[in-house]
Amino acid sequence: MKKLILFVLAAAVTFQAGAQQIKKGSIENVPSQGSYHPTYSSDGASYLPKNVILMIGDGTGLAQITAGYFANNEELTYFNLKHLGWVTTKSATDFTTDSAASGTAYATGQKTYNYAIGMDVNKHPIPNIPERVIGEGIISGIVSTDDLNGATPAAFFAHQENRGMTDEIWADMPGSVLRYFAAGNKESFEKRPEATQKAIKDAYTVVYSLDDPACATAEKLGVLPPKVETGYIVNGRTDFLPKATRQAIDFLNTRSNEGKGFFLMVEGARIDKACHSNDFPSAVKELLDFDKAIAEAIKFADEDGNTLVIISADHETSGLVVWDGNPKEGNVEGVHISGSHTATPVPLFAYGPHAQDFMGVQGNEQVAQKILKLLLAK
Ligand SMILES: [Zn+2]
Repeated sequence: MKKLILFVLAAAVTFQAGAQQIKKGSIENVPSQGSYHPTYSSDGASYLPKNVILMIGDGTGLAQITAGYFANNEELTYFNLKHLGWVTTKSATDFTTDSAASGTAYATGQKTYNYAIGMDVNKHPIPNIPERVIGEGIISGIVSTDDLNGATPAAFFAHQENRGMTDEIWADMPGSVLRYFAAGNKESFEKRPEATQKAIKDAYTVVYSLDDPACATAEKLGVLPPKVETGYIVNGRTDFLPKATRQAIDFLNTRSNEGKGFFLMVEGARIDKACHSNDFPSAVKELLDFDKAIAEAIKFADEDGNTLVIISADHETSGLVVWDGNPKEGNVEGVHISGSHTATPVPLFAYGPHAQDFMGVQGNEQVAQKILKLLLAK
């Protein structure tokens, strides 16, 4: 209890070095949440995976993960995985990508311009993984702590020229092939045009809680919880991300057409947002929560034996450096060098059959190409 009470930001100091803003932050007495230790029985197997779970930690570079590792007494499910690679994230137009271009690369296998949602450099729609695999009977879903129109989740169902076209992105949902979504919030949904709300309700069983009994029986499910449940942990979010991840897996797995498999994208959206604000303690809490969602995916991969899990990021945010710490006490200190995205390659962790295909250095679009090759080879 004492530890929980002391689970607070200790210090935040800002000073200027040349044109760059440098901000130091620290977190202390983080209660250990342990980690999941996989069985490795399917890890690196040569048979084709039936299911693929792609997990995107928005803005999550090596330092964000490492900060979580030290805060959690030198333990993390991420770091229990053995097949590692690196991902370069440059967009078709910019040295430093935004989440829309990188999300589109991960969703479609093609590089595009910053701000694009599922569109190529000529502003033509590009089919995404859910659209490419549905013909093989493979069903798809998305989970995110961002709004449904957030660039990363949107890239997996929408096709719009600009990520700022919020209403248009929401309006793409009812015509999408997704069978499951848990993201965004009730308040945002209710701000959309009435026709869009009606179309989404006609296409999906819409519920406002992961605990709604309709989740068990729906054929197409949309979960839009109250805002606090997908907001920052520091503002009261509890277990939405790991719980929705597990629900999405079970939902898709039990509805998978004659066992043909599923594709699920899970985004930990707020690691990026906390780093934009140079809020180090918030970033660490978001990372540790994302690690719980990773544990759910790896646990299922062990139960199932036919599931490939890929965990990476769309880009790094804030040029974070892990500066100091005391892992025994759950203390760690970080320094952000900016409030923006950086172009440093991000780590990739893979687990399950064909995890070995994702080792080495690859572009974000190549990750999607490899996923498609595996899912379409069956
Ligand atoms: Zn960002």
